[in-house]
Parts: sequence; structure tokens; C-alpha cells
Amino acid sequence: MSRDHVLYRDYTKRYPTITHGQGVYLYDDTGKRYIDACGGAVVVNVGHGRGEVAEAVAAQAKAVGYISSQRARTQIQIDLSERIAKHAPGDLSNVFFVSSGSEASESALKLARHHSLDKGRTEAYKVVSRWQSYHGNTIGAMSLGGRTGGRIRYTPLLIDFPHIVPPYCYRCPFGLTYPSCDLACARDLERTIRQTGANSITAFIAEPVIGATLGAAVPPDGYYQLVREICDKYDILFIADEVMAGMGRTGAWFSIEHWSVLPDIICFGKGISSGYTPLSGIIVSDRIVDLLIQKGGRFGHGHTHTANPVALAAGIAVLDILEREKLVERARTQGAYLMEKLQQLRERKHVGDVRGKGLMVGVEFVRDKRTKEPFPAEVHFTERVAQRGMEKGAFFLAGNGSVDGVLGDHI
Ligand code: PLP
Repeated sequence: MSRDHVLYRDYTKRYPTITHGQGVYLYDDTGKRYIDACGGAVVVNVGHGRGEVAEAVAAQAKAVGYISSQRARTQIQIDLSERIAKHAPGDLSNVFFVSSGSEASESALKLARHHSLDKGRTEAYKVVSRWQSYHGNTIGAMSLGGRTGGRIRYTPLLIDFPHIVPPYCYRCPFGLTYPSCDLACARDLERTIRQTGANSITAFIAEPVIGATLGAAVPPDGYYQLVREICDKYDILFIADEVMAGMGRTGAWFSIEHWSVLPDIICFGKGISSGYTPLSGIIVSDRIVDLLIQKGGRFGHGHTHTANPVALAAGIAVLDILEREKLVERARTQGAYLMEKLQQLRERKHVGDVRGKGLMVGVEFVRDKRTKEPFPAEVHFTERVAQRGMEKGAFFLAGNGSVDGVLGDHI
């Protein structure tokens, strides 16, 4: 690729220039068509080229393109908050909008600390998270995350938060088998809380269905129920990061609902605007907000584009489509069909596992199926699969490090 003025994420790759999209397809400037099999970064929940979303965004930009959330609000902010709250479980009914999933993680992190202070738990500031997890690329969010490849260069900049093992039955970190394992991976949370010092812990954050770093691994039944019990026992918040798995992707509005467990904060993003505008946020329980109001009512957090009305307009239009076309239910039925068909891949020499929920589905590659031995990292197996996919006209979200942060390949 000839050198232009873009600072690229990766100069070893060739990026096609995309001109337009329609439905599941993207088209480049040579006229080549690609199936966007991963909806970009698992974002495009209602498909490309939805004219009504574009029209809603344009109409809002004409009416008012920007206000500062420090001084004003918009009706669209009130409306979208109400519509999201209606789909959120339990008493999660207070919505704070930001632009990216990373900002959502940062907001949850700060609100958890704020809540601890409100409760007089002044020593509590650490958030426990999991290895092989992803919560974003800003420094706070990356400190929460457990994606070794992304973190390792920046370790000196990161906050030293404790990480527990992932609930990853295909490669159980304890070498055990469900259910005789007695959910050792969930019990690792309690061990870590006690070992770190329960007084210092403000929250536990997890992706209910694990996305970018574990290729749609689904924790076993009982896992989140036990996590909830442990969080309650030590008076710490449970934050469900639904940035990727939320907004219907797994066949439920929020993937934690598959376990019937109620978190205290939900992070959302991606699918809420289906990528038409940058839009993310957190949904917060009444309990947290009631205390916040009682203690003075100042969260004191926000960004320039908090509740940007043009971004919110896409959210409303996308919710209209999700509800009208029953896409959450469709993700369940189409997901079951996709999973059934993908099981055939297991016959392939290097396909170790096929897993997921709804339309969030991952395939893990191995060198040896019997021993589950992964490919050496230097082989760049997933990247080669993704590159070959592009040559043949399909985009996949490539990931690695599923085994131990370094080894392991999945899409
Ligand atoms: N949380 C999860 C679970 C994600 O999958 C992502 C992005 O992939 C993020 C947070 C970060 O979102 P963003 O890239 O919008 O900052």
C-alpha cells in the first residue's frame, strides 16, 4: 500500500477501501463484495445501509447537533434512556451515555469507586477482573482487561488490579471438568478477594459471554449465580460488560439474562447504534443512584460527547429496528441454525471447538485436536485465516491468546 497520511493500526496489513454496505455485505472501491461475517468488531447488529438510521441521524443534526451534558439535556436523551431501561433487567434503570465501550468501562470503574465512598468504604478502589477478557484500550479499561498481547507493552502504565482465571471449560485452567469441578473458576473470585484484601475491592467486572479474547466462550451454568453470591458476601458490585454481547447479539437483550443474574452496572455499546454513530454507556441500578443522590448527587464524570444527540438519534432508530423486526428473538433462532451448521466444521483437522450463544459464535483452532495443542504464535494462524477470508470475500474477527495470553487462535 502506498504511503498516505493515515497512521494505520498495522502497517503489515493491506486494508481494502470500503465504499458502501448493504445488509450483511460490504463493497470496496474495486467493486469486490465481502460478507461482513462479524459485523465489523461485532457492532452492526441491524446490518449495513439502513436508510432510516441515516435519516434519523440527519434530522437530529439539523435540529441540534450538540449540547454539553454539563449544562443541558435533550428529549432524545430522556427517551433513549427510558427505552434502554425498559429492556434492562431488574432495577437497572439509569442510563449514562458515552462514545466508546472503553469509556463505558472507565465510567463503571469510576462509579464503583464513587459508590464505595458513598457507602463509607473509603479503602475500596480495586476492581477484580479476569484474564482473557477485554474491556477496552484506554489505560483504565486496559488495566481491567486480561488480553496479554495488548497489555504487555503498556504494563508500567496500568493500574495493578487483580485478575482471576477465565471460566473456560474447553481449557479449564484447573484441568477439571464441569460439573465435578464445583465451579472452581468462580471460587477463584473469593480466593482472590480474600488474598488481595476484601476492604480494597470495589467491584468485579466480567463479559458474561466472553468476546474478543476467548471467541464467544460461554461460562457454565451456576457460574454467575456463584459470582453474584460472592459479590454480595463481600459487599462488592458486579459489573456486566455487555459492550459486545449486549443489545440482542446472543438472543437476549443482555447476555447475563441467560443466567438470570442481576448485575449492579451494565456496560453497553456497539450494537446500540449498530455502528452508525459512536455510542456506548452504562446502565446503573436504582440502589446506586439513590445513594448517589442522597450523598450529594454529584457523579462528577463525563466527556465532551456524553449524550451527544446525533449519536443518540442512531440509538433510537436502531432500537426501533431491533424491536420491530424482532431481531433479538431472531438472533436466538438464527443463532441455533448457525451453530448447527457450524458444528460440521468440527470434522476439520484444525477446528478444536465451536461455541457461542445466539449470533455470537466462535471457532477455536488447534494444531492437534486430540491434545488441544495450539499452533506456535509465530505461525499467526488466525491472522492467516482472516487474511484468506478477505481474499475470498469475508470479514472475520480474529483473536489469539486464548490458551495463556500468548498461544491460542480463534475467530
Ligand atoms: N468491552 C467489551 C466487552 C468489548 O468487546 C469492547 C470492544 O471490543 C470494549 C469494551 C471496548 O469498546 P470500544 O472499542 O468501543 O472502546
